[in-house]
Amino acid sequence: MVSHLVYAAAGSNLGDSTATLKQAVVLLGAEEGIEVTRASPVYSNPPVGPQDQPPFLNTVLELRTSLDARGLLDVFLTTELTFGRVRSEKWGPRTLDLDILFFGDEVIQEPGLTVPHPLAHERAFVLKPICDLNPHLVHPTAKCTVADLLTTVDDSSMRPVHGIVLVEAK
Ligand code: ATP
Ligand code: CA
Ligand code: CA
Ligand code: CA
Repeated sequence: MVSHLVYAAAGSNLGDSTATLKQAVVLLGAEEGIEVTRASPVYSNPPVGPQDQPPFLNTVLELRTSLDARGLLDVFLTTELTFGRVRSEKWGPRTLDLDILFFGDEVIQEPGLTVPHPLAHERAFVLKPICDLNPHLVHPTAKCTVADLLTTVDDSSMRPVHGIVLVEAK
């Protein structure tokens, strides 16, 4: 079985975000062809875009999957809908957001699917948790490590949220 190493961002700022992140990990792991191998710590972050919305809980999940990137995106979008995700304003509040950050070292530019995620290199709330998991990971188009990229962004407003275990250590 071909197994792709994937890093995915999960975020929530509506409803019981802690419960949502926990349940999302369970649902994703229950999918055929997806294994959630590790999760970063959970961080609280100020919202991106409109400021009149609650802070986000963000984490990065490490997955192994036999799906291709499009198949994984379909699972992500369906899982968002399971949690009642409604898309209204750009970067508005949401119960669950699942983004593919890295899919192995694949570079994909198709309608509706860009990998690596086009803003991954400039977002502290994804770079810091990826670095928690795999600081030596090389961004396939920026050609530097995520640890290098993290030094170029401001992560001063991120706060670790203690006590949330998304994936039990093996
Ligand atoms: P941002 O992409 O800036 O984080 P967002 O997550 O709020 O914004 P969404 O409304 O969740 O944006 O997604 C819009 C569309 O982005 C999705 O329907 C999906 O087709 C597309 N998309 C393109 N590349 C990706 C990717 N790597 N991961 C997830 N969705 C992607
Ligand atoms: Ca599974
Ligand atoms: Ca997003
Ligand atoms: Ca998204």
